[in-house]
Amino acid sequence: MKELLINERELIKKKKKSPPRIIISGAPASGKGTQAEKISSEFNVVHLSTGDMLRAEVAKKSEVGLKAQEFMNNGKLVPNEVMIAIVIARIHEPDCEERGWLLDGFPRTDDQAEALNANGVSCDVFVHLDVPDEALVDRVIGRRSDPVTGKIYHMQFNPPPEGEVKERLVQRSDDTAEKVKTRIKAFHENLNPLLDRYKDKTLTIDGNQKPENIWGKMYGSIARSVKFRY
Ligand code: AMP
Repeated sequence: MKELLINERELIKKKKKSPPRIIISGAPASGKGTQAEKISSEFNVVHLSTGDMLRAEVAKKSEVGLKAQEFMNNGKLVPNEVMIAIVIARIHEPDCEERGWLLDGFPRTDDQAEALNANGVSCDVFVHLDVPDEALVDRVIGRRSDPVTGKIYHMQFNPPPEGEVKERLVQRSDDTAEKVKTRIKAFHENLNPLLDRYKDKTLTIDGNQKPENIWGKMYGSIARSVKFRY
């Protein structure tokens, strides 16, 4: 009997402890990726970047990758039916259920947010990284990544070391002036309904400042939202 009570108590404790569920939203090159890395390591949640997930599918030439590739290359959004299926499946995998998750790049439209809702997925906090459009275009055009380490550089604001690293850097095919304008336009068109939907959970942070300052402002608010124990 005593054993049963202890087990019951453990069960209640487990049920009550819900792992963090965080969404981060920001335009292309808003610095979302950098902050997402910090959030996922600090809160030990699974980082689900839909852009990275899709790029991995494209590299594998999987069915999803083949469907997504053309949209991505043109800076357009991948159709909802493809996106929603990938995200809902991933979010219900055991690591996400156990540790919680950080959704980075999803939901990008209100239909995607509705799909989360319909599947019983809600969040603790919706982080919105706010950066003026002019700054975004400059950041995108100079952005390069190192295919070996995955590190992201900016040719002007965060230059790579001279030599081997600099020579192997690559530019994302959708990081051109033309395509980024399409991506920023789509971002704005979809942002307001999302801010409206998550208005009680939105944390807007000025993203036009140094990454460490952004993190300084963001950390405490996220911690409170996910009821993290200090
Ligand atoms: P990102 O790395 O977040 O900038 O995403 C790169 C590209 O992947 C986008 O320009 C879209 O083509 C596609 N993508 C990523 N997330 C989504 C999403 N939630 N809905 C539709 N397309 C997406």
